Amino acid sequence: MQIQGLRALDDNYIWLLSRNGRAWVVDPGDPTVVLDALEAAGLALAGILITHHHYDHTQGVADLLEQLNISVPVYGPANSRFDGISHPLQEGDRLDLDGWALNVLETPGHTLDHVSYWNAQALFAGDTLFTAGCGRLFEGTPAQMATSLKKLRALPDDTLLYCGHEYTWANIHFAAIAEPDNPDIDQRKRQTIECYRTGQPCVPAPLGEEKRTNPFLRFDLPPLRETLLARGAQDDDASLFATLRGWKDELDATGELEPRL
Ligand SMILES: [Zn+2]
Repeated sequence: MQIQGLRALDDNYIWLLSRNGRAWVVDPGDPTVVLDALEAAGLALAGILITHHHYDHTQGVADLLEQLNISVPVYGPANSRFDGISHPLQEGDRLDLDGWALNVLETPGHTLDHVSYWNAQALFAGDTLFTAGCGRLFEGTPAQMATSLKKLRALPDDTLLYCGHEYTWANIHFAAIAEPDNPDIDQRKRQTIECYRTGQPCVPAPLGEEKRTNPFLRFDLPPLRETLLARGAQDDDASLFATLRGWKDELDATGELEPRL
């Protein structure tokens, strides 16, 4: 399967999967960039995958189907508020994209209706897990998000993370504050700055790198766990995660994590 990232809206990624002239899109928040990409590559849309209901991931669905004048499966979480899903999915379901199978994991926390899609090659994690970061809690609880992130942490190191937004700069700069003595984070920070300076995407990234450098996959491990306990966390996943997420939300609000080129 070929996987191409389409930049959309302010900082979204729409993932275009293609094989033998047929294509699937993940989270088409903008129909125009998808239509342009399909036409440029001579691809026929075969299906749409939705991770969660937010408009920047779903608002292109109706336009795509209408403008292409086709009916294709729209996969998404069974408990979604988005009403355009034709094929509702739950934990343990499997999709077959012309012989390329994807497994469905329920990963609530950012929203209550979030699913991630994965196989050995790729993880489409929507707004649950970002490169070097994770989604904000709009609907779920810290306990739900901590469970979702640990579920994704259990996936293989070689699997590539394809997430819903390009937030790597802010995320890795926060990671360097949260774990100042982690050489892997320091190296990734330098790589990320170079990536942004040259206009390259920082996504995808191998899950193994996320496990070494993403604080939201490390909140229960030393030395970050001790740092969070010192910042007032209780010694449980929900509290450790909530303390870390709250710390980043505070810094996000100051603007100091925004890209400076
Ligand atoms: Zn979202």
